[in-house]
Amino acid sequence: MNSRISKLGLSQKAFIEIIILTIILFITGNILQNQISRKLNDAAEESVSQMTADMAQLADERFMRYISTLKAASIYLEQHEEQKNNILEAINQENVYGRAGVMDYEGNVTGAVVSKHDFPKLLRAFQGNNVVDYHPDGGIIVAVPVYYGDNVRYVLYQIFPRGNLTKVFGLADYNPYSRIMIQYKDGSLAVPYENFSTKDHEFWDDQDIKAGMVEVHSRLETSKAAAVYTEGSKGKYYVFGADLPQTDFSLVGYIPWSAVAGKINSVYQMVQWVFTLMLLLFACVSIYLFMAQTKVAENEALKKARQAADDANQAKSQFLANMSHEIRTPLNAINGMDEMILRRSRDMDIRRYASNIHSASTALLGIINEILDFSKIESGRMELVSDKYSLRILLKEVTTLVGFRAKAKQLEFTINVDSSLPNELYGDVGRIRQILINVINNAIKYTDEGSVTFDVSGQSVEDMLNLRLAVSDTGIGIKPEDMEKLFKDFERLDLQKNCKVEGTGLGLAITHRLLTMMGGTVHVESTYGEGSTFIIDLPQRIVGHELIGDFDAEQDIEEELEEVVATSFTAPEASILIVDDNEMNCFVATSMLSDTKAKLTVAHSGIEALEFLKKDFFHLVMTDYMMPGMDGIATLHEAKKLKGTEKTKFVILTATALAGVREKFLAEGFDDYLSKPMTGKQLDTVVKRNLPINLVHPLENHQVKDIEEVKVLEEPKTTDNEVAANTSLSLNSPKIDMSIGLKFCNNSDKLYKRVLEMFHKLCEANIKEMEKSFGEENWDAYRIKVHALKSGAMNIGCTMLHELAKAQEQAGKDYVSEEATEAQRIKAVEHMKAHHREIMDMYRHVAQMAQEMTEEK
Ligand code: ADP
Repeated sequence: MNSRISKLGLSQKAFIEIIILTIILFITGNILQNQISRKLNDAAEESVSQMTADMAQLADERFMRYISTLKAASIYLEQHEEQKNNILEAINQENVYGRAGVMDYEGNVTGAVVSKHDFPKLLRAFQGNNVVDYHPDGGIIVAVPVYYGDNVRYVLYQIFPRGNLTKVFGLADYNPYSRIMIQYKDGSLAVPYENFSTKDHEFWDDQDIKAGMVEVHSRLETSKAAAVYTEGSKGKYYVFGADLPQTDFSLVGYIPWSAVAGKINSVYQMVQWVFTLMLLLFACVSIYLFMAQTKVAENEALKKARQAADDANQAKSQFLANMSHEIRTPLNAINGMDEMILRRSRDMDIRRYASNIHSASTALLGIINEILDFSKIESGRMELVSDKYSLRILLKEVTTLVGFRAKAKQLEFTINVDSSLPNELYGDVGRIRQILINVINNAIKYTDEGSVTFDVSGQSVEDMLNLRLAVSDTGIGIKPEDMEKLFKDFERLDLQKNCKVEGTGLGLAITHRLLTMMGGTVHVESTYGEGSTFIIDLPQRIVGHELIGDFDAEQDIEEELEEVVATSFTAPEASILIVDDNEMNCFVATSMLSDTKAKLTVAHSGIEALEFLKKDFFHLVMTDYMMPGMDGIATLHEAKKLKGTEKTKFVILTATALAGVREKFLAEGFDDYLSKPMTGKQLDTVVKRNLPINLVHPLENHQVKDIEEVKVLEEPKTTDNEVAANTSLSLNSPKIDMSIGLKFCNNSDKLYKRVLEMFHKLCEANIKEMEKSFGEENWDAYRIKVHALKSGAMNIGCTMLHELAKAQEQAGKDYVSEEATEAQRIKAVEHMKAHHREIMDMYRHVAQMAQEMTEEK
């Protein structure tokens, strides 16, 4: 929302900026345009006035030419007076528009008759001057003196009547566009141009033209020719004028603006065009800038959105980390306990139940892993961990898991394994298992009836096996148009049909990417409504000669159960420190490692661990990461500062399994990393790897030996119904966990039996004492007794009683604490009173159970 507002504000600002710039550009353009047109007009006026000057000179020369002709004739006449008439005739023939004549001083005329009165300037010719005179009715007269010795005897002249003036003196031939006329000094029109009509009168009477002419005349005071641009109702014109220097005439005229400014106009148009182009360019640049600015704003918004998305992603990762921790921690306990059952129990029914728990928790772990995998793939930090593996065990694990599901849906599940396939391969078995489980689970999920068939075949070339894993089903099939969406993130197909099928749409996307990472491929053949076949081709290195042989899933399950109980070595001289605030985790770890015979020490906090490390040397410290107070990393750093820890190896255990965590811990200085929930085998491997090699004694045939070595108490036989009843009761009724008890008895069957007996034997006496101090409200004595019960309960393996006693002990402690307030004491007493009866009853009940167990034994 905010970004939208700021975007709007920004675009408004940019828009206003553009408008202002356009106005400025427009005004500048106008000023520039005026300047240019003024300059152009000045130039045009200059050019027209130059033309006018030229024409004036031409007109002047015309007058002088007639004078020259007369002058030549006058010289001839001086000498040949008798030929006066012939001379006049010759002059007339030379210019048919004029009539020549001679006048003597008395006014006697030969030839063309003129009046001295009309042409007063003629007198000046008698004074020896050449004369050009004008009379509105008579026309123009050109006259020269004719001498007799030093005196002027006659005046020879030629008169051009008014009607002929235009033909003789007109200047139309000078420029086809201009109209030029000759005025006498008094302003009267002497020589009009051709076709001079009333329209022309109107033209010259126009106010603007007149104003132009006034300007021309004023300029003529300082220059010999002038032209002025006028613009008015008549249009655009240049009016011009020039004096004819040797006469009393002047030349005036006009020329249309277009005739002069034709070229100028094109320049002008070009300027205008360039300017328009500039405007356009400016508009484009503005639009571009505007868009760029908007884009920048959008980028800003995108950046912010990206930041927000990154933050959200970070939050998601954090959430995933927390969630994985929260889920993995109890799952660790479930798996650990389950594994202990598998190790300790030889009852095949119990082992089968435990194995089912194992499958279920593995599946749960699978879901968590799928989410985590996706987060890893998303961040590009997915890594493959390749190792030697057994194809038989892999197939067995997969079929066990998916077999249950197929059975539950009453689908026929068949696995066909080519017996000539090599069994010992090298690759990331975890990821291959994940891929297979996903594809086979899909086949089961999307098949309502019929069968799912898993064909395992392959071709070996030297030490490489091209493993082909094909999963066919008789399910709903996939539409051809959906095929390409199949491997996309979160893409679920045919939702109409599949709405009731659970799924994230992530499985195949992860499958595809994992296979690509491993150099494998997956392709699908499907007929909608009939079924699908997913074919996986995966190159794997062959690392052993053993062949897989005839594959029997059932038989393999038994094998696996045997394997779970395996411990691969003993290390009686090794000392291991286990650091975890969670009692159960400590217990699981110590239980699992107890078979190694290593000296195991448990610390419940980083501080406690440091205390141990100050006192004793440990070959190996296995610390949890998330602990209150000092976490695993802080504990490591502090521990490394202590003397004598140089040779100690540190392994971190964490339920956080996000991408990059391993690297983070190794970078902190840990020697190894173990992700919870861990299997006994993983723990075994890591411990073995990190203990000094000379302390590790591998067990030859360890599976069998392990079972033989661990002396297990026969459990009372229970029917399936009893198990169900026990399970439902288990939340409220106490149970004695043999494995816990055995652990506290160093796995000694005899010792454990004795402890159970003792527990029962001491029960009534202890109850009596406790009842007594309870009755007397002697809380200090009571607390000590309850503390003993707490430990005793743990020793026999009854965690429920242990917990109750622990809480009661804490209340006792609270009561006796010196810092306790009165209110706290009252609360503590209330707690003890509220739970006393329950504890006593449970004590009796558990003691009875312990007694029964020893009797059965
Ligand atoms: P999901 O968690 O939805 O199963 P997947 O990524 O494993 O996610 O599968 C994606 C989609 O592909 C499924 O939603 C389903 O529509 C389709 N699909 C996968 N396997 C099959 C199959 N064997 N038969 C029919 N459709 C299948």
